[in-house]
Amino acid sequence: MAKRKAKGSVLVIGGGVAGMESAIQCAQLGFKVFLLDQAPSIGGHMSQLDKTFPTNDCAMCILSPRMHEVKSQGNIRLLTYCRVEAIQGSAGNFSVAIRKLPRFVDEDKCIGCGTCTEKCPVKIPDLFNLGLNQTKAIHQLYPQAVPAVPIIEKDFCRYFLKGKCRICEKLCPTKAVDFNQSDDLLMLNVGAIINATGFSTFDPERIADYNYGLSPDILTSLKVERLLSPTGPTGGELIRLSDGKVPRKLAFVQCVGSRDVTLNRPYCSEICCLISFKQAMLALDRGGLDEIAIFYIDRRAQEKEGEEYLVRLDKEERVRFIKGKVARIFPDENGSLVLDYSDLEGGFQTFRADMVVLAVGIEANKDATSSLMDLETDPWGFVNTREFNLESSRPGIF
Ligand code: SF4
Ligand code: SF4
Repeated sequence: MAKRKAKGSVLVIGGGVAGMESAIQCAQLGFKVFLLDQAPSIGGHMSQLDKTFPTNDCAMCILSPRMHEVKSQGNIRLLTYCRVEAIQGSAGNFSVAIRKLPRFVDEDKCIGCGTCTEKCPVKIPDLFNLGLNQTKAIHQLYPQAVPAVPIIEKDFCRYFLKGKCRICEKLCPTKAVDFNQSDDLLMLNVGAIINATGFSTFDPERIADYNYGLSPDILTSLKVERLLSPTGPTGGELIRLSDGKVPRKLAFVQCVGSRDVTLNRPYCSEICCLISFKQAMLALDRGGLDEIAIFYIDRRAQEKEGEEYLVRLDKEERVRFIKGKVARIFPDENGSLVLDYSDLEGGFQTFRADMVVLAVGIEANKDATSSLMDLETDPWGFVNTREFNLESSRPGIF
């Protein structure tokens, strides 16, 4: 769409799919838009997904064109690797203080060739893949990142720690590595703010009896998403991280951190059932599975098309829906995972699996930006908005 004359300015906080879409819409209306993300790239949670429900379309195939539209839209200025430090003022006239963190790579000079990452001698956990594999001390967040510019993790870099190395600087063809970069402070004046900071997921370590962390084969939904993704740590193969074998028996445990008053999470997260149904289908497509057990309280396929997943899974002989509450998960001496669960009659049963997926619930994003905005929330931290236009309790913040 042709660039219209700017009429005002908007700050969108959060560069996930909701933030990007908001930024594009505002920019097309003629507003000057600042799109800010704490991460070194836009994309948010959706960039970590393999497929989307209910169509099983490739998530990155949907997201990537939007990311490039954001980058090329003349009315949008991208502010990645940035933190909001303060928000003052009111609707029509907000002053926002922003801290831009140093990448130690010049965004204007870098051509994203990847030589620095290839040659860097220091391996670190790859947080984009949730620590399931390793990356290098200088790395791009993920292959399709926008901007396609790496960062140096100062806490791991050999030069910052020991004063020696600078291999990346020597080999960079465009002299983009800059160890002298420091924090940059920016002040923005905007008329409105869109809060698109997204969500967090429930930490399953809060349920001690599930022994999350004791076995690498007890995973969260998001970790399984990375395993299923062709750009993930296993190239899309669903294998046990303990021994590299394809699991024959897979168990999904629903409502982990949802609909549980004992954890102060009484609400339904509304997406975990569909995520598990989708992942069960994708796991079957990978082959090698003899059985999938899905432990549930209620099957909630919230979207209209979600019901189709259920119909397909109900027809699949290898899939068993088990209505019951899993009380305990633990690895046995042979590496199998034992699930003790209560059945409908109130008795206890046992199921053995090679891999367990915890369908973790959604929580309100608890990052510092949300508290800076000082918005009214519900008891669980989700921002209250007016139904009509999604405006928050603070006029001018949506
Ligand atoms: S200077 Fe740091 S980032 Fe660069 S190659 Fe050495 S360890 Fe890696
Ligand atoms: S070698 Fe230089 S140009 Fe290539 S990705 Fe690294 S910093 Fe960018």
